[in-house]
Amino acid sequence: EVRVRFAPSPTGPLHIGGVRTALFNYLFAKKHKGTFILRIEDTDQNRYVPGAEQYIIDALNWCGIPFDEGIGKEGNFGPYRQSERKESYKKYALELIEKGAAYYAFDTAQELNEARATAESQKKNFIYNHTTRDQFTNSLTLTPEEVQQRLDNGEDYVIRFKPQIKNLGLFDEIRKGIQIDTSLLDDKILFKSDGMPTYHLANVVDDHNMQITHVIRGEEWLPSMALHVLLYESFGWQIPSFAHLPLILKPTGKGKLSKRDGAKFGFPVFPLEWHDDKENETFNGYREDGYLPSAVINMLAFLGWNPGTEQELFNLDELIEQFDLSQVNSSGAKFDPDKAKWFQQQYFVEQDDAVIGAAFAKALQSENINYGSQDYVNLVVGLVKERAVFLDDLFELAGFFFEAPKEFDEKNAKKAWKESTSDLMNQLIEVIEKTDDDTASGLSDSIKGWMKSNELGFGKIMMPMRLSLVGSLMGPDVFEIASMIGKNETISRLKTAIS
Ligand code: GLU
Repeated sequence: EVRVRFAPSPTGPLHIGGVRTALFNYLFAKKHKGTFILRIEDTDQNRYVPGAEQYIIDALNWCGIPFDEGIGKEGNFGPYRQSERKESYKKYALELIEKGAAYYAFDTAQELNEARATAESQKKNFIYNHTTRDQFTNSLTLTPEEVQQRLDNGEDYVIRFKPQIKNLGLFDEIRKGIQIDTSLLDDKILFKSDGMPTYHLANVVDDHNMQITHVIRGEEWLPSMALHVLLYESFGWQIPSFAHLPLILKPTGKGKLSKRDGAKFGFPVFPLEWHDDKENETFNGYREDGYLPSAVINMLAFLGWNPGTEQELFNLDELIEQFDLSQVNSSGAKFDPDKAKWFQQQYFVEQDDAVIGAAFAKALQSENINYGSQDYVNLVVGLVKERAVFLDDLFELAGFFFEAPKEFDEKNAKKAWKESTSDLMNQLIEVIEKTDDDTASGLSDSIKGWMKSNELGFGKIMMPMRLSLVGSLMGPDVFEIASMIGKNETISRLKTAIS
């Protein structure tokens, strides 16, 4: 059975890189009828941000990619917060010491800083590993009695990993074979005397105990893969498959996308809006910006993956069916905010008029705009939705169907309104009053007939008529508008414009 996990640290909101990781895990799990697990990696209490955990859960739910197992959905492998598993890690660190794959180190922060400074003064990189560990205070340089003494005295210690030195062959599902010379690795800290494991130990122990079959995560963890594989080997555990997803790059392609890029250029990089208390700043969310979850998901899927065909629009079911780790690229994926909008537009127009209409009616109501009936709103939506990207666009595209224009666009007014226009508009009012058939085609026939018999040019009548009804020179067919708002309202708006 396939079991995958998304394992964020609750240090802030999920940005699109995190959601993309979650999505790919979700797709992989669903494709293989497996289980998608959410595990909160909160062992680093210094970086803990209140509210982040709930944000992560809410964001996954909003995107429509909920986890199967995790906080609030306990399976057989809980608890799903590492802080609640705290007691379980020490025995694994001790097991490694027993096996000769780890050791105690008692170096103080000051000693390590001095060693670092000395290395730097000799233009060498500071490294704590087989080349230097005999210079430090650890259970490899102390006698067993001395070690016991220090432990009994309650001295601060860490437990460091002692990697086996060899040529290690790794296999990443996306990058394929990688060779690592483990003599270059440092002796990573696995456990600290405050009783907390580091990320590396906790992550590997939990993946093993939660029976994770595939580790799918961001490229920033690729450098840790050798260490993790060595840990599995030292424990004698089965090694899961690994897949490291490509970086998400700035729109320019230069460097990693950051939340600053979003703030600076006005596009969202978070699924939901996030207020950062520390920076006292609010960051845009896709939801608040009016994006549909389906558009966000489709856009995210293409950040690193492609189906190998021309098809670009995929709903979640299609993604599950088509998704394959072998079609994930290893090179960085450029984030393109315009493409995100394009996806949004595709999904926006695809919705039924009645669905958009219901949402628009609600929005109108909250602006205290009287919209008449739901049917009327739905008809309006049908006339303008092709030009909308977001629900809010409808206010500008269709507001005049509900309210007379409050002002006239000055530049257009100058263009449309000439000396004779008021007189012509008065005549137009008479024509409209006399027209019995107030459908769009009825109004069109009678107005065009009048124009023709009086040899009145199109711009002379249509432009000021549109300006009077809409307030600007845009919008759908003007007879359609007149018919929708009705003869009385049409005449009233013409009169306002004349005066
Ligand atoms: N807690 C790590 C993170 O925040 C998880 C990395 C992994 O998936 O192994 O990204």
